[in-house]
Amino acid sequence: MVVTMLDEATEEQVQHIIDRVNEAGYQARVIRGTERTIVAAVGSGRRHEIDALRVAPGVDNVVPIAQPFKLVSRQLIPERTVVKVGNVQFGGPDIVVIAGPCSIESYEQLHSTAIAVKRAGAVMLRGGAYKPRTSPYDFQGLGREALEMLAEVRRATGLPVVTEVMSTEDVDLICEYADMLQVGARNMQNFALLRRLAQVHKPVMLKRGPSCTVKEWLLAAEYLLTGGNQQVVLCERGIKTFETEMRNTIDLAAIALVKQLSHLPVIADPSHGTGRSNLIAPVSRAAIAAGADGLMIEVHPCPERALSDGAQSLDFDAFARMMKALNAPLRSVPVPLGVPA
Ligand code: PEP
Ligand code: MN
Repeated sequence: MVVTMLDEATEEQVQHIIDRVNEAGYQARVIRGTERTIVAAVGSGRRHEIDALRVAPGVDNVVPIAQPFKLVSRQLIPERTVVKVGNVQFGGPDIVVIAGPCSIESYEQLHSTAIAVKRAGAVMLRGGAYKPRTSPYDFQGLGREALEMLAEVRRATGLPVVTEVMSTEDVDLICEYADMLQVGARNMQNFALLRRLAQVHKPVMLKRGPSCTVKEWLLAAEYLLTGGNQQVVLCERGIKTFETEMRNTIDLAAIALVKQLSHLPVIADPSHGTGRSNLIAPVSRAAIAAGADGLMIEVHPCPERALSDGAQSLDFDAFARMMKALNAPLRSVPVPLGVPA
């Protein structure tokens, strides 16, 4: 339930509504928009007591929010949220491109990649220090040593950095080094991790779980918002389907849908979404056409030697070509539309 206040509502009237919402068993969340203030009643409580606030002084209306997610919903906050990471703005007018290796393997690998992707137009650097690998025998990441490299390369290039946090134990350490924390697909519903990240003062990139619905994804984001962290960027990275030619099936319709359902920015990860480097350029263009606010792309100096995800990584030249192609017209000739007979 949401209580929308009149434009001229006083602070005392808003405070009265907050108190009444809390008394009714809900948690009150106050959203002060550019035009008006709204008080959301989240959680579960005595609904009729909120309904009755229609006649309280300063109240314009009381409306239910139909969806199970509340704070992430556009019904509650119609204006788009802009998430800032340094000078980078997710959800603003520009498409944000994050690029870098799947795993940080060495200083030289990360530094050369950062220089190359920055030159090609990327505005943020990615790189995994703690890697969620399907097999325990695969490269697990360099951990703290990789975080040091990330911070050093950030200093050298000025690019803000994002890296994955897999465990609540690592949150404080990673916060010392990273500008943004990535929750990987496998951890989307790690509720202990989400609750912990709700309390940090860093933006979070929340990847969609490979077998999670859009509703589950938005409810995972709700954990972050309701716990106090509003700086959330969603990332569609493909889901499991019966398709076997690609590593995952990137759900471009989900990007368009989430933009309708939520005010949070959404980006696409065509690297994990397809698993094939030669699909990254066309799928990136399609994701932007579907409404994505940005892209995250894996880039490696020599993909055939990558310790993880080489098959879906672009080399420097391919990344530069892809960046140029992002601005090319949809087709080189006008799209021929059928003419009625
Ligand atoms: C990654 O970004 O390298 C990664 C492991 O992604 P995901 O969680 O989407 O598999
Ligand atoms: Mn990867």
